[in-house]
Amino acid sequence: MTPPSAAPARDRLRIAIQKSGRLAEPARALLSSCGLSWRESRDRLFCYGETLPVDLLLVRDDDIPGLIADGVCDLGIVGRNVLLEQDGERRGIGRAPAFREWRALGFGGCRLALAVPDGWEWRSVSQLAGKRIATSYPALLSQWLATQCIDAKVVVLSGSVEIAPRLGQADAICDLVSSGATLAANQLKPVQTLIESEAVLAGPEQAFDDVRGELADLLLRRLDGALRIRHSKLLLFQAPRSVLPDLLPLLPDAETPTVMQVDGQDSLALQALCHGALTWQRLEELKRAGARGLMVLPVEGMLA
Ligand code: ATP
Ligand code: ZN
Repeated sequence: MTPPSAAPARDRLRIAIQKSGRLAEPARALLSSCGLSWRESRDRLFCYGETLPVDLLLVRDDDIPGLIADGVCDLGIVGRNVLLEQDGERRGIGRAPAFREWRALGFGGCRLALAVPDGWEWRSVSQLAGKRIATSYPALLSQWLATQCIDAKVVVLSGSVEIAPRLGQADAICDLVSSGATLAANQLKPVQTLIESEAVLAGPEQAFDDVRGELADLLLRRLDGALRIRHSKLLLFQAPRSVLPDLLPLLPDAETPTVMQVDGQDSLALQALCHGALTWQRLEELKRAGARGLMVLPVEGMLA
């Protein structure tokens, strides 16, 4: 495969996302919210960018770091767990880092955790010494065991890790956990988190030195705007000037509000961009503190 530095200059940006699975839809939705749209190809592997020269490649998530390393794709959306595992794998065999996390994207949240059978009385990680631990993340598990100075056997499995203890293949497991329901159904309990993960935008170590650099910058600016407003709402209300000191502490998640004087009165009109949930309870609290005419509006876009 051609290394990225030797790849011919390209005038379109190519982003790899998961073809199907947990990250597929949210990744597409996030990119669409950045104003991208695509013409679907018949083979459903490549989608040609219409609004901007940004194309999509639909692949298995495990292939994404390698596609970036080989310069086949410029960017990718993948779980941090996959990115770090493959980075660890490369380092383990003495290869240079070839990709890194560019942005955390706030979806696909999970953690890579150690889990042991329910019956274990868990006291400390030293109990893992001499045990067999099944995982699909051997690089990350081995690195962590080394930092803890624990000598345990890593049993590499590509799937169904959670049934390994019941099958007698391992004593404990190291796997992705979100709700913990799968572990519980297999009589396992999580005891130690190795990594907090979420979907990330991954890219090469170095910035692009052709037109893709400008496209990537444009995309990052839009992405930052989209991520910033994802859970944000615009709050509009009026209030007498005198109650302002009581109201502002009730908006700790708001950016500095815009305050306008309402003509000829001691009344102010305020607008605040709030990043936390604006529940009925919060609106009622604001009303009790003197706010009037409270209105919550969705935010469709933002460019800082
Ligand atoms: P592919 O066919 O693309 O290889 P996959 O089966 O490896 O798919 P998914 O199960 O769709 O992948 O998971 C993709 C990513 O979703 C994971 O790498 C992880 O970052 C994230 N994720 C979030 N919650 C969980 C969970 N409970 N279990 C597994 N992955 C999770
Ligand atoms: Zn996968």
